[in-house]
Amino acid sequence: MRAGEVDFGTALLKGLAPDGGLFMPSRIPVLSRERMDSLAGETTYADVAFHIISEFLGEDIDNDILHEMCRDAYNFDIPLLKINTNLYLLKLDQGPTASFKDFAARLMARLMSHYSGKLRRRLTILTATSGDTGSAVASAFHKVAGIDVIILFPAEEVSVIQRKQMTSFGENIRTIEVDGKFDDCQRFVKQAFNDSDLDHLNLTSANSINIGRLLPQSVYYIYSWLKTVYNSGNKVIFSVPSGNYGNLMGGLIAMKMGMNTNRFIIATNMNNEVPDYLKSGKYKPIVPSVNCISNAMNVGNPSNLARIIELYGGNMNEAGEIVKKPDIEKMRRDLWGCCVTDKETIETMRNFYDNYGYVIEPHGAVAWKALESYLAILPENISNGDAYISLETAHPGKFGETVKIATGVDPELPASIKEAANKKESFDSIANNYEEFKKYLMND
Ligand SMILES: *Cc1c(COP(=O)(O)O)cnc(C)c1O
Repeated sequence: MRAGEVDFGTALLKGLAPDGGLFMPSRIPVLSRERMDSLAGETTYADVAFHIISEFLGEDIDNDILHEMCRDAYNFDIPLLKINTNLYLLKLDQGPTASFKDFAARLMARLMSHYSGKLRRRLTILTATSGDTGSAVASAFHKVAGIDVIILFPAEEVSVIQRKQMTSFGENIRTIEVDGKFDDCQRFVKQAFNDSDLDHLNLTSANSINIGRLLPQSVYYIYSWLKTVYNSGNKVIFSVPSGNYGNLMGGLIAMKMGMNTNRFIIATNMNNEVPDYLKSGKYKPIVPSVNCISNAMNVGNPSNLARIIELYGGNMNEAGEIVKKPDIEKMRRDLWGCCVTDKETIETMRNFYDNYGYVIEPHGAVAWKALESYLAILPENISNGDAYISLETAHPGKFGETVKIATGVDPELPASIKEAANKKESFDSIANNYEEFKKYLMND
């Protein structure tokens, strides 16, 4: 992770540092009380996003341009539902592809276009997806000037609707079906980045290891803190449904910026290698990952864990081994891990509907269940004035079958999915073979 010091534009466009490590902001700005007060006075999400992101980019970008990008990127609702006195559900599912990945992808697309335009260089974004990232990236970059996108997806592991959501754009978006698994797609992408024969393509990544995806994800934490307990001086505690831990990294950045919190709940499905690590102090990736109904969190060796370890003073090498121990006691104070089974996920969806009248989907249910477990062991906390916010990361309509089983309700499909269902698909197919993929790229 010794990435040297580069400016934001370079880190954004490169994705990975030259030594193969992950870029981290060299400085996380701490917002003053006055700055927070003025942020609390902002009314729209886009305005809050602009002020927070500008703290990182500073003179790197013209303020009016950045402000316009934020308005353009965040042109949808961000509902914060009060479920009970101090329990909230933050719905991050109203973007064009109905998952929280829209938050990062939409701002990143605009920032990348800006910085690549300044360099007068055409970029090719290469990304591997097991579902939601592909559609969020395709939608966010569609028709963005100066950028081509190539998305690799595994033939067997993507649902028809997920495939349709990314293969129907055309123009600067190309999709390739690989006769293999997600891990194979990810391996091709990594290999291509290190292949000097492909240098002329200016390849870059849009996976959750890109710093341009993390910063936008710190905004909704601060935004919902400002909207709940900022004025009372109480704390905010988030429950984060986690897979690759990009979302949690956004929260940790928000904490470093001065958000008043003392804890994040890490909610996982059976891929609980991180909660296990917090308990035992020994990190054991789960290989292969376990298939659970909250399928966007079926990650057994999360790529952002290296960043989290580094935030706590440790170091994890490329092979996923912890070569320098982080301050695990501090990690345990900040992070509380909880593993939720599929059975508990379904029960939570049913109870949530019965008790509060809202339909939630599996990822949001994992987070809610973890929050309930947390409050069950610390019942005195329920009425201490703090706010507990659980994140809903996808639209229930994306998981219609499971929702129906759990609640008996047929959820409304989000508009984007209805549209995608009727669109014409176009994608290429390749064998599970890097050389074939390389030939495809070379013939560009
Ligand atoms: C990607 C995703 C997650 C996991 O987020 P991470 O940042 O990888 O931890 C959770 N829920 C949904 C719906 C997702 O698409």
